[in-house]
Amino acid sequence: MGDLRQALGEDAPNDAEHLNRRLRSLRPDGWEVPTNKDDRTLPVGTYRLDAKGWNPSLGPRPRREAISAGKRRRVFDRDSRRCFICGVGSGEPYPGEPNSQAVLTVGHRIPRELGGSTELDNLQTECKRCNEPVRQELGLPETLAELLPEVRRLRKQELETLLSWLQAGQRIRNRVDAAYDRARQLSVTEREQLVNTLRDMIHGSGAAR
Ligand SMILES: [Zn+2]
Repeated sequence: MGDLRQALGEDAPNDAEHLNRRLRSLRPDGWEVPTNKDDRTLPVGTYRLDAKGWNPSLGPRPRREAISAGKRRRVFDRDSRRCFICGVGSGEPYPGEPNSQAVLTVGHRIPRELGGSTELDNLQTECKRCNEPVRQELGLPETLAELLPEVRRLRKQELETLLSWLQAGQRIRNRVDAAYDRARQLSVTEREQLVNTLRDMIHGSGAAR
């Protein structure tokens, strides 16, 4: 773990969970890196490299399953290029991590291993952090006991929003979200025009700036 932290340099957040996650994210690419959780004979904080998997110098990443480019595009379009689970948009930073950038992928509502199909109904846009193989790797991500104090800090309106999302089984995007999703797909020039238009609408078109 110490070696890994040194190799990653100053930029990497200095917490064990972040490093663990980065290591676990190698597993879907065939890297076998057992830890103390997999092999009790290993000291805590030590990894053993059993097998090297794919890395970028080997060329394009092998496709794990066949979802056609067209189907991926239809899923992304339908879900407004946002992670269905956490709501992060393509290329957006994660909350509290201004330097991060979400990468979207297509995931399965019912995992392939449990018989889930590759029909559109079973596919959803997910960011790489929420995608199901990673989800399984992370294991037990949350407990109510840990979540409740955060929930208790929310305002009433925020509680109502959370409740409505939970009851709907997904994050409901409001009109502002929907407009933002569309605005993000404008050209740079048109986006700038929209920013100016919004400023005028908010401050009044006659106001001196
Ligand atoms: Zn996500």
